[in-house]
Amino acid sequence: MKLYVRQSSQHGSGAFASEPIHEGEPIIVFSGPVLHRSEVDFDDYHLQIGETLYLGPSGVADDYINHSCQPNSGFRGGLTLYALRDIEADEEITWDYSTAIDEEDFGGFPCACGSSDCRGVVRSFRHLPQDVQQRLRPLLLSYLSDRYFPH
Ligand SMILES: [Zn+2]
Repeated sequence: MKLYVRQSSQHGSGAFASEPIHEGEPIIVFSGPVLHRSEVDFDDYHLQIGETLYLGPSGVADDYINHSCQPNSGFRGGLTLYALRDIEADEEITWDYSTAIDEEDFGGFPCACGSSDCRGVVRSFRHLPQDVQQRLRPLLLSYLSDRYFPH
């Protein structure tokens, strides 16, 4: 296991690297029960993986990975999170939630990532400016690539 969970300075609990992770290495595969939107407890851990599909809580480290507007990890279509750069031991792992969330009625939540290009609010992919959408394109879950960047 490359991750451990502890208190994050950013938000509640976070997932941290238990050993150095090299750029391009897989970090964790997101898991959990596959739920229809109507079955999701939005107060509990969840990940949108399709227009109406979600993963519920897995009970392991993937539940605790926080958002960053300048993340050190990201998806490449599937549910495996990869390191976008070299990550040191004890560094917090983050990914950009807007590469998965795309609900019309998601109002967003204030971001506390502290990065220099923080967008201020975490929003649905569809509500991002076009230049940000383009930048996030390589990191999107496949249902979003298929929808917004069809071949
Ligand atoms: Zn931010």
